[in-house]
Amino acid sequence: MRASVMTVGAALIVAGMCFVSEIEAGFKIVVLDDPDVGLNDPAEREPIDGNNGTTLGQQRLNVLQAAADRWAEFLDLDPSVEIRVGAEFIALDCEEDRGVLGSARSNFVYKDFANAPAAGVWYSAAQAEALAVASGGLLAADRQHIGTFYNLRLDEGDETCLRGASWYYGLDPEASRPAGTIPLFPVVLHEFAHGLGFATLVNLETGALFQPDNEDPLEDAYMRFLFDTETDSSWSDMTDTERQVSALNDPTVVWTGADVAAESNRVTAPEAFSQGQLRMHAPDPIEPGSSISHWSPTAEPSLLMEPSLTSGLFDQVDLTPALFSDIGWPIRSEFLDLIFSDRFQ
Ligand SMILES: [Zn+2]
Repeated sequence: MRASVMTVGAALIVAGMCFVSEIEAGFKIVVLDDPDVGLNDPAEREPIDGNNGTTLGQQRLNVLQAAADRWAEFLDLDPSVEIRVGAEFIALDCEEDRGVLGSARSNFVYKDFANAPAAGVWYSAAQAEALAVASGGLLAADRQHIGTFYNLRLDEGDETCLRGASWYYGLDPEASRPAGTIPLFPVVLHEFAHGLGFATLVNLETGALFQPDNEDPLEDAYMRFLFDTETDSSWSDMTDTERQVSALNDPTVVWTGADVAAESNRVTAPEAFSQGQLRMHAPDPIEPGSSISHWSPTAEPSLLMEPSLTSGLFDQVDLTPALFSDIGWPIRSEFLDLIFSDRFQ
């Protein structure tokens, strides 16, 4: 099934009431939905497949918390680190055969903080916080590091939205999912990964490096590992115009990080590689929110961070922690044992 699109980088900021769930494993989910909506929906539900919530809102929140816990297995977080994720369910684009399931972004970015892996490089707020806290720094006292949205329209029984598909809130990887449902869990894992730093800040329309007001343009942690095998040059060495061209240059844009390279032989499809390195998604024309900030969809077995949700993905995170390690996230040393579960075959 490749009917559904997951995107990153939606610029929506919706004001709302703010409730905070309990803190677990370094992540705090901050519910931004209004009362009785989305993550606060009081509609009664029977517990389902490992999700013991008894309201629709609680079941949704349980899935987000489970995804946060899953990432906390891999990220080597100091006990004092708190990664705050602002979350809400809102109506996102949806058509009969394709729709946006969710989106996420780092709400802000940092450079040159304590323990930054490289100088003069932008890092996601969550990554910067995780690294800086190890030296006693606290960067964002109350702000939410990540903002994320999930499509409320899926539960509205609207036949014009993915043929009336609804969210599946189960958490048991072994359970069989009812027909006509889309599992929320892998979508949240995917979106949280974007929020944690699986995304470039480069303006793909112009090739320009990220440049906030009154700042010099600087590289971001992700784009430093992008390389074009056709021109034999890294994105770091390109001009803006060259990056603008490369962003459309399927099938020759690849990831050069060593930790991904060490594990990428798990991907067996030859077309997912260019000169032995795993390809990124670089279609022409650009797909805003999808281009470059995902693996090529040619990867088999399918990867969590492809642009579309693939049937069969559930709790697998495959190469995502390896990419996090490449960009300088502290990853638990045993992570390689955890990446490839027996379901990743
Ligand atoms: Zn995505």
